[in-house]
Amino acid sequence: MQVLDGKALAKTIKEELKADVDAIRRAAGKIPHLAAVLIGDDPASQVYVRNKVRSCEEVGFRSSLIRRPDSVSQEELLAIVNQLNDDPDVDGFIVQLPLPDHLDEDAINLAIDPRKDVDGFTPVNIGRMTLGLESYLPATPNGIMVMLERYGIETSGKEVVVLGRSNIVGTPMTVLLSRKSSPGNATVTLCHSRTKNLKEHTLRADIIVAAIGIPEMVTADMVKDGAVIIDVGINRVDDSSRPRGYRLAGDADYAGLQNKVSAMTPVPGGVGPMTVVSLLMNTLKASQRK
Ligand code: NDP
Repeated sequence: MQVLDGKALAKTIKEELKADVDAIRRAAGKIPHLAAVLIGDDPASQVYVRNKVRSCEEVGFRSSLIRRPDSVSQEELLAIVNQLNDDPDVDGFIVQLPLPDHLDEDAINLAIDPRKDVDGFTPVNIGRMTLGLESYLPATPNGIMVMLERYGIETSGKEVVVLGRSNIVGTPMTVLLSRKSSPGNATVTLCHSRTKNLKEHTLRADIIVAAIGIPEMVTADMVKDGAVIIDVGINRVDDSSRPRGYRLAGDADYAGLQNKVSAMTPVPGGVGPMTVVSLLMNTLKASQRK
């Protein structure tokens, strides 16, 4: 089995981005600047945002972190978004999800200027992507597309099953995989919690993209020999043998699938680092927008 090593690939792409930033600096151009908004103290969100900020530093971008407590009001968060929209110094920004329950995630998303929406979550960018127009592509699906391309995994004419229909992963993944370009041109089935006989679908798949959020749900009996598994899931599973008391598990049963599939992403170190790299690629693009 080939391990689709997102960590190593992300390192290579970051070196390429760093060379781009060095060239921009030599030409006295504008260094890309990403801002991240983090609300509350959810441990997973803190880790994700820290990785994003650290990755900006690694490639020579500027980064800013704006933190507010869980108690922040909708008005205050909207004001932060509007300020970032108007700040000519900020090329792109993200509002880390999920937000606390009392905040209206849709309203915040709609307030983000699509030209600075480097997460690619706003209706304008989703719509442009769907029409095949130039846009900021959603970070996780685009990171997966970059990974498929760089690892030379053929998608044209393949049966792909995407598990999970979220707006940020599953649904845009189906758009990108079925578009008329390379990678793409796949025949895509989108499954979710109401799908009947899930196994009948997954057993047909040449490639499975699992974005469900249930640890190790995709097991060997659900997968045909030689399939490719892209595991998006990041789940905490109690494990008293670990110093932190938990381990990270994907949505696929990595150990059980190793001898059955032809290629698979590990968790951690697979899709996660590619998501961050994709965000950096969008930010570089945003800085060159004017
Ligand atoms: P959501 O919770 O938004 O969506 C989960 C999807 O899985 C839903 O569409 C749901 O169906 C579907 N689902 C739930 N149970 C089943 C089931 N038994 N069979 C089939 N489908 C099912 O998740 P996200 O897309 O936000 O995230 C998915 C996972 O990926 C999480 O573990 C998350 O942490 C991780 N993630 C990782 C990223 C990375 O960079 N590696 C980035 C983003 C997320 P329904 O719509 O019917 O409810």
